[in-house]
Amino acid sequence: MDPLIISVATTGNWLTREQTPYAPLSPREVATAAVDCWCEGVTIVHIHVRDSQGAASLNKDLFRETVELIRAAGCDIIINFTTSGRLGQLPDEDRFNPVELKPELASFDAGSINIRNGVFINSATFLENLAQKMLENGVKPEIECFDTAMIANALDLAARGFIKPPLFFQFVLGVPGGAQATAKQLLHMVELIPPGSPWSVCGIGPYQLPLNTLAIVMGGHTRTGMEDNIYYRKGELAKSNAQLVARVVRIARECEREIASPGEARKILGLRCLNE
Ligand code: ZN
Repeated sequence: MDPLIISVATTGNWLTREQTPYAPLSPREVATAAVDCWCEGVTIVHIHVRDSQGAASLNKDLFRETVELIRAAGCDIIINFTTSGRLGQLPDEDRFNPVELKPELASFDAGSINIRNGVFINSATFLENLAQKMLENGVKPEIECFDTAMIANALDLAARGFIKPPLFFQFVLGVPGGAQATAKQLLHMVELIPPGSPWSVCGIGPYQLPLNTLAIVMGGHTRTGMEDNIYYRKGELAKSNAQLVARVVRIARECEREIASPGEARKILGLRCLNE
């Protein structure tokens, strides 16, 4: 098995201080959380930014500031910017902003689904434009799949040259309106991707830890963090993102699965080298 690539999604679009006082929201808080997680062994940080009011934003300066703070700490973590538009609340044009900053990775939500009262819209035209923008900027798509149809969409885009191999999939399971967070579902999704493609999985809420563990033993990669789950265990809030990361690292070590350094992960994912 390849060494385990652990991503941390520290913040997301929806987390609020009312839900948990431990949520990192400002660029400085997100950067500090990323560096703390890196010290625990995390490989990739998935970054969302918030404005001074704490609202989700796609402002380039906020993304830039966050990365500068991370790098100023001597941290070589892989940067993965979100391109999510908060269920249509942020305009599609702004969703290209993070890609223009040329992070090594950016999220690529490969289709549309209902999420409770909202619709997560990623039209075919938008996805072609986003993929094209990523190609032009040397950004690798982290292909987020909330159901199997999104895998089909991604494979179609790859067949038409919009996404280059190796394809890196992130299965997002347990979202209301998306695929269920079960072992059978995960196995099925892994069987649908081209053999040898690196894949990762994250589970929402109580599914986070079981899916982290499944990925470790199946040879996949995994994501943790407060964007997906704010609890350390039932009824007990996680005190930090690093606390969630440290537990995944401990479980991996118990299973004798090595943890990937950012450098090793760059090779596995076929990323361009840092500073290139
Ligand atoms: Zn996200």
